[in-house]
Amino acid sequence: MHPLASPFVKMVFKNYYFNKISSIPIPLHVEQREFGYMTFEDTMIRHIKCSSPGEVRAMLVKESPKGVYASVSYYEFPEAPMEEKSWLGGDIAFDIDSDALNLPCKKTHDFYICQKCGDVYSQEMQNCPVCKGSLEKIGWVCDNCISAAKKELVKLLAVLDEDFGIRRDDIDVYFSGNGGYHLHIIGSNYEKLDQAARAEMAEYISGKGMTPKSLGFTPRWAIFNRESIPSEYSPGWRGRLARHLAELYDMPAKDAFLRVVEDNGNRTASFIEKVIDMLAPTIDSAVTADIHRIFRMPGTLHNKSGLIKKKVRSLDEDPFLTSVAFDEEAQSVYVVFAPRFSLAGKIFGPYKREKVYLPTYAAVYLMMKGLAYPVN
Ligand SMILES: [Zn+2]
Ligand SMILES: [Zn+2]
Repeated sequence: MHPLASPFVKMVFKNYYFNKISSIPIPLHVEQREFGYMTFEDTMIRHIKCSSPGEVRAMLVKESPKGVYASVSYYEFPEAPMEEKSWLGGDIAFDIDSDALNLPCKKTHDFYICQKCGDVYSQEMQNCPVCKGSLEKIGWVCDNCISAAKKELVKLLAVLDEDFGIRRDDIDVYFSGNGGYHLHIIGSNYEKLDQAARAEMAEYISGKGMTPKSLGFTPRWAIFNRESIPSEYSPGWRGRLARHLAELYDMPAKDAFLRVVEDNGNRTASFIEKVIDMLAPTIDSAVTADIHRIFRMPGTLHNKSGLIKKKVRSLDEDPFLTSVAFDEEAQSVYVVFAPRFSLAGKIFGPYKREKVYLPTYAAVYLMMKGLAYPVN
């Protein structure tokens, strides 16, 4: 963030936490969670215990941090060093990030900006060719990024429901505050799963680990017997794959499987892998597996956008509309560079090396990305 932007953003963050504190949901089991926050100097403070929701609120108002986090796990001693915390269990967490989806739009809107002269490049380079300054990658998020992340979210909700018996009503879905979605499952049958079991759960959800054998074939895709091939009614990924192939080939699933093997021969494994990649949600497995993680706290502001990590009521919602934290008051800012973006139903930019008047939320959005600072 530009040194002139930091005090301004800090002030508007402080106003947000002061004025909205009663609307920020405090996580359950507050006294058993580890809290942490990132300061405006980018220092991470962790291992904080709060004994009551009031203590969390007091901390938010007092510190008004750049980012606020709470552990997914519950501990006997949340304030102790990690190895002495005494783990009791934890929420199941999922992270879907549009940045990880290799979307074609990323190439059109992500860019590299010189930290010294402000020149912008669409491709990664060692240094700025003009002034040799260092280049920083700025990941942008567009409507297409959000709709792609939503598709992954829908796939994830389906697998959780069909294969784990976790209903939509038992899952808290949040816009992450930047480019994706976070899921929190609190107090489920799965809360005692350890790190290894969570890693396995994430791997299963990603559709990884399907082998010829698990699909009823020999390692070289010969048939053991027709019974062992998945049908439309098989549970889990076997059935999901079977239903997809049945639809694709417009024939009973077992016949479709045989057709796949016939058509693809020794490339069958890679064909199946491609189909599963398409059907499986892309999640950040490390987030689900990591029981020691502190995860952005719902209702708090994202340190790269100034948007709220906001609960999703309906998938039709536009998060660039619902997660805006600040008001319309015009701020005079110098924008080094910004592609077009939309916030609160308005379209801004593109801007290049110009002074503009922006509503506070749009000014903060650009400042958090290191692209603007206040001017008179
Ligand atoms: Zn430069
Ligand atoms: Zn995009």
